[in-house]
Amino acid sequence: MQTRAFAAQSATSPLGPFFIDRREPLPTDIAIDILYCGVCHTDIHFARNEWGMTTFPCVPGHEILGRVTSIGNKVTKVKPGDLAAVGCLVDSCRTCASCKANQEQFCLNGSTFTYNGADTRGKPGAITYGGYSERITVDEAFTLKVPANLDPAAAAPLLCAGITTYSPLRRWKVAKGQKIGIVGLGGLGHMGVKFAHAFGAHTVLFTTSESKIPDGKRLGADEVIISKNADAMARHAGSFDFILDTVSAEHDINALLNCLKLDGSLVLVGAPASPLPLSVFSLLMPRRHVSGSLIGGIAETQEMLDFCGKHNITCDIEKIKIQQINDAYERMLKSDVKYRFVIDMTSLRM
Ligand code: NAP
Ligand code: ZN
Ligand code: ZN
Repeated sequence: MQTRAFAAQSATSPLGPFFIDRREPLPTDIAIDILYCGVCHTDIHFARNEWGMTTFPCVPGHEILGRVTSIGNKVTKVKPGDLAAVGCLVDSCRTCASCKANQEQFCLNGSTFTYNGADTRGKPGAITYGGYSERITVDEAFTLKVPANLDPAAAAPLLCAGITTYSPLRRWKVAKGQKIGIVGLGGLGHMGVKFAHAFGAHTVLFTTSESKIPDGKRLGADEVIISKNADAMARHAGSFDFILDTVSAEHDINALLNCLKLDGSLVLVGAPASPLPLSVFSLLMPRRHVSGSLIGGIAETQEMLDFCGKHNITCDIEKIKIQQINDAYERMLKSDVKYRFVIDMTSLRM
């Protein structure tokens, strides 16, 4: 199926119109007309080849929500006309230890990511293309159901920003009685604040943007710390149980580590292109931990969506047309987004 899309042709070219081919549904596939696609900072890292792993042309987008148009003859999960969502994964081997443990993002035989992944269903060497496109065909096992009470546009970014913050907060058992830090108030960070607050924790936002203090509190932070202010950081030394770092660029993680208690954990989900200096002394005294986390598995993504349905949680979004995508990237690089851009994909059909 010939499909309109927006692609980066090289690391230095702006995104522009491009045609891709989508497969007709195989027996367990769902074909989806995309209504909304969130704009993740990972899209910028890939479009500009900041991580040195992009194959061009690159069609980003992994916060996808749309309407089912046709289904394969073995599909049971949805019917044409239903809403369906797709996140960062479109396939995995389903047989390895990670897949059997519902951690398809760590498939030992290689997860198929929604874009720039090796397309196991395509021709040899083909890569996957993401949600900055009219439609997508995905195996039903990698599609998600979005609760009917949630606004579809504001729910789309849950598929990456939502699960990437929900999963580590759950894994590290964030709950009432704990002091939790969320670093960076962008797409991921604002969902981290909402979830930590919803889980009952004393939630503290670390931000570099003074202008975001009122929004931080409105979104659920009990306190806001300006991370560039050394005195403010010193006042919180040794007091946090857990800190989730969503920052997309180079920054001082030692200053964050110093805020942790004995056995406290700093979990990095932001993925700066360059290595971050780590002072071992920040880990030794008192014993502290540094970890990473990558999105979440499909079952946990559905659990997160159901939690959001139950508690009426969605993302704070700014809707854009696909033609505004290059400006949106520039604004995100200036930390100027409230708090996730979502592309109205009908703009691609204009
Ligand atoms: P975003 O919306 O651009 O937000 C990033 C925030 O980080 C900014 O709003 C800003 O918050 C803060 N920030 C930016 N530059 C900074 C600097 N130099 N020093 C300190 N703080 C800075 O990005 P996003 O979509 O949330 O993504 C964040 C990162 O997570 C990206 O690297 C992305 O690739 C990564 N990611 C990882 C996963 C995963 O599975 N691990 C999934 C999705 C995304 P303030 O203005 O509040 O300071
Ligand atoms: Zn993402
Ligand atoms: Zn696997």
